[in-house]
Order: sequence, then C-alpha cells, then structure tokens
Amino acid sequence: MQPETQLLKNLGFPDLRFHAAFNHFDFRRGGRRILVIGPMGSGKTEYSARVWRDSLVALRKSGGVAALTSTAGADRRQVFFIRSLLDRARFPQYPPDALPYRNGFERCGRNIADIRDSFELEAILARRPEVGTWIIDEASFYEERLAYVVANDSQARGTVFIFPTLILNFRRELFNATSRLLLDTATDLFPLTAFCEHPDCLEDSLYTYRYYLVDGEECPALYFDPLIIVGGDQTKTDPREPNYCTRCDAHHYLPGKEYTFLILKPLGEKAAGGDLAPLRRELACLSGDKERSDWPATWTAAGSRISSATP
Ligand SMILES: [Zn+2]
Repeated sequence: MQPETQLLKNLGFPDLRFHAAFNHFDFRRGGRRILVIGPMGSGKTEYSARVWRDSLVALRKSGGVAALTSTAGADRRQVFFIRSLLDRARFPQYPPDALPYRNGFERCGRNIADIRDSFELEAILARRPEVGTWIIDEASFYEERLAYVVANDSQARGTVFIFPTLILNFRRELFNATSRLLLDTATDLFPLTAFCEHPDCLEDSLYTYRYYLVDGEECPALYFDPLIIVGGDQTKTDPREPNYCTRCDAHHYLPGKEYTFLILKPLGEKAAGGDLAPLRRELACLSGDKERSDWPATWTAAGSRISSATP
C-alpha cells in the first residue's frame, strides 16, 4: 500500500489510488537535460507547447523572480524552440515561427530556429546567451556530437534542455547512437504514452509499428526491413511504401527477428567476404519461392498477412 493511502486510511478515508499531479514547469531548477519520450501521437510537442505557455506566465512575474530562474545571465523563463530543417516542409499551413501540435500552434517569434547540426546549435547558443531553456525537437535525428554540446552548456551555464523525441525504432530498439548518448547525458525523463492504434484495443502504447498495405490488408514490416524510411502523415496504399502507427506489446508484430540473426545475417557476412551466391539464392527464394527458403514453415503465418498472424 502506498504511504499516502495508508495515512488516509488511518484518518478514516476510503481506499483511493494516488496519481502524480501534473505540475507546471519548474524554471527554478537549472542544469537539467530532460528527455520527453513516447511514440507519435503521445503529445511530445504538446508538452513543449505547455512549457512555452508556462514561460509566458512566469515572465509576467515581478523582477525578483529572475534571481530564482537565472544562472550566469541565462534566464530559464526564456524558452527557445529548435527544430530540424526537414520539419519546415511538414507544416506549410502554419506561420514560419509556429510551434505546431495536434489541434493548435504557438507562435514563438524570434525564439524559434531550424538547425542542420550541432554546430548550428552552438552558433545559436552563442548568439542568444540570455535564453535559459532550449527545447530541441527530435534530437535523435542529429549527430552524436549534439548530446555533448548540450551537456557541456547545461553544466557550465545552468541551462535546461528539453528533448521531445522518439527513442525507439520500429524494431523496438534504441533509435541510434545519438539516442543512446542523449540517455547517457540526461538528468530527467518524462515517458508519454498514446492509445494503441489497433481497432480492438485500448491499451497504452509505447512502440512505433511499421506496416505496409498490400491489397488493402495490413502486412507488418519484417525485422530486417531497412531502418530508415521516412514516412509521411498520409496513409500509403502502395505496398512498397511504409505506414507508421503506435501499438501496444500485444499488437506490435515484428516477424523475422529470429530469422535475421539465425539465417540472414550469417549469409550477409559470407557475402561481405566475397561469397555472394548463398545470400542471393536465399533472397530469391524468399521473394519468389518461400517454401525453398530457410524461412521456417512454422513462421509462415507470422511472415505473411496480419489476418493470419493475429492470435
Ligand atoms: Zn493493442
């Protein structure tokens, strides 16, 4: 029993389940690197927008507050939003200074910029020394160096960095080396969940699921599908183009993991050593004559259509 429940029961209250309150952002605590992780649709950008709105409230306080929220001239109530250059094209319907999230947007004026890499981030940090809170959207998409640029600045000047980011790929593995370093250098973690998008399910989902539509039927991506394929927000009916959604454990299908390590990877290593024929043979069988491939017969259902893979 939770200590709060125990206490209230002692005072004659009924059994109640306690939940953590959602607090406004604490601009007083400096030197933090905060990871906000969750699948798409879990509200990562809304989290950022909330910090932005909280900062507007905090900035209206009296001058005495600045001493609580500032270190070395950087005031953490000053929030700056960084996004990838690639994202600019995603929301053509919004003004150029907008931080768009589901059902709305905030306008950030001169406190928003697109960057290509960690060097451009360093340039902005130097240009705006008065800013104390930096939100870097999808930081996993940048190179590893960014994790250390951020950690050094945060430790030296008490700045706070918030990273709303995907941390797992469709294989349910860490997205890349940058994700790993962001975890290494983080001080706080906010995990967010979304509803599982399976039509029969109301579970929380943590995972990104990649699938293809083949003649209108959902077909899960195989484990050895290429890692990086950029997906849009539109549903793709072309069977060569992937779709993404979020799924719970039970509805996140990922056929072929065992096959990848048991069969395919050793054949790939052989091919890298110059012996290409076995890999070519296996791949040809896999696409045209699966019975003759090493894909075990018992896995056929899981490797084909979702309708037969669903328990
Ligand atoms: Zn589910």
